[in-house]
Amino acid sequence: MMSSNMIKYHPHADRLTAFSAGSLPFNQALCISAHVQHCAQCRQDLKRLNHVGSELFSELPTSSVSDTLKERVMAQLDSQPETEAPDSGISKSGPSDVPRCLQPLIPNGLEGLPWKRLSPSIYAAKLCNDVDGSKVEMLRIKPGGQVAPHNHTGEEVTLVLQGSFSDNSGVYNKGDIIYRNKEDKHHQPIASQDAECICLTSVQAPIQFTGFFARLFNPFIRRSHYAS
Ligand SMILES: [Zn+2]
Repeated sequence: MMSSNMIKYHPHADRLTAFSAGSLPFNQALCISAHVQHCAQCRQDLKRLNHVGSELFSELPTSSVSDTLKERVMAQLDSQPETEAPDSGISKSGPSDVPRCLQPLIPNGLEGLPWKRLSPSIYAAKLCNDVDGSKVEMLRIKPGGQVAPHNHTGEEVTLVLQGSFSDNSGVYNKGDIIYRNKEDKHHQPIASQDAECICLTSVQAPIQFTGFFARLFNPFIRRSHYAS
């Protein structure tokens, strides 16, 4: 079994605690669920937290996501085996590449999502909305593709599902979870040259493109964060 020691970026302890207590908004909980499925270390931490604290997911906040959907997502997480399946690295897109907790949102696999082209190298597909206006989307960036530089008006959570990308703070690989907020100016993710990068992303509020692309993209993004 390949371990998850490639993962360098984890949720902070306070996030994991809130996740364990079921006090995170659904969209954030979803990103952490998907991370936890890749990350043995966080699974261990969660086990300890759950032992100390309240039962996992006993109280989920109200959201616009239907109770049925939430139940299905959470049931998938509960049914996750303790050990990870062997990691075959970059593989073809299909339901098997999708973390279990996301499968109810991606029933027909990645290829079956309603991808919308944002630029020649970037596609986005919306998965769901949350009551606070957050949007959960999948982003697909071609090898070497760049997201136009942007600022954040709210928090952005990104989980790498396939491939890798970098920004001015680091390089992020499969399983890494990245938080960005107002303090992170001119954020510009770039996919690695060797593979397509697929990410799960939750954006709390519209991002604002900066520089050259600002005029071009901001009206579009205001409407829909990433995807329309
Ligand atoms: Zn972790």
